[in-house]
Amino acid sequence: MRKGYKLFILYTVLLIILLSALLLAFGHTSFTGRSNGFLNVPFFIASLLSIVGLFAILISVLKAYSRRDINKSTRWLLKTGLFVLVPFYNFVSGIFKVDVEALNLFYVDLNNIMVRSCPGKYTPDKILLLLPHCMQNSECLYKVTGKISNCRRCGRCKIGEIAEIFIERGIHVEVVSGGTAARKLVMTLKPGLVLAVACERELTSGILDAGDIPVIAIINQRPEGPCNNTTINTEELRNILERILV
Ligand code: SF4
Repeated sequence: MRKGYKLFILYTVLLIILLSALLLAFGHTSFTGRSNGFLNVPFFIASLLSIVGLFAILISVLKAYSRRDINKSTRWLLKTGLFVLVPFYNFVSGIFKVDVEALNLFYVDLNNIMVRSCPGKYTPDKILLLLPHCMQNSECLYKVTGKISNCRRCGRCKIGEIAEIFIERGIHVEVVSGGTAARKLVMTLKPGLVLAVACERELTSGILDAGDIPVIAIINQRPEGPCNNTTINTEELRNILERILV
């Protein structure tokens, strides 16, 4: 998490320096009469606003991390800022082969700070729990994707235990085959809150796609490597449920 946080700060500072250098170059060429300053006014305003916005995001992230809390106006700014910056930083990280996973871990953590800082209670019908299909035991013969009621709760994976905790409280639980299926479900059901279990990469894109719907993101454990017999600390899930349920 710490590495992703530092990367985010570094990228944002570099972006501010780059935009400031562009602004200075623009000012210089306009001043020396080598460009039509009037035509570049929109560029000037856009660059200036971007620099101010980036500064505000930077300070908000620093504050959020030191206090582990975010106020309402900062939350809006961070949500909007991250919506733009996350895909861009991930793209840049991909090109330069920088640790994208560390960045994603940071986004997930920051998102959870944002959701936690506006505590709300939800009735069971407003909550949607999404589980990844890689959580199902790889030798299980039952098709639980899209139909968790097929789970025999045999105890060979955590799906049965989670189904017991959530379904018995009247909460909608779905085992999804991937990010696309999860997004479709969220758009169709429009819950008040999503609890999502997945890897940091899937969670990051899911959080961005969910828009205004808050997502509490829980990173899965991968003792056998990615996408195979993944698991989760059910106690953590239970504690979250106690916090959010009316
Ligand atoms: S708990 Fe359910 S999903 Fe997991 S192995 Fe048993 S029957 Fe399959």
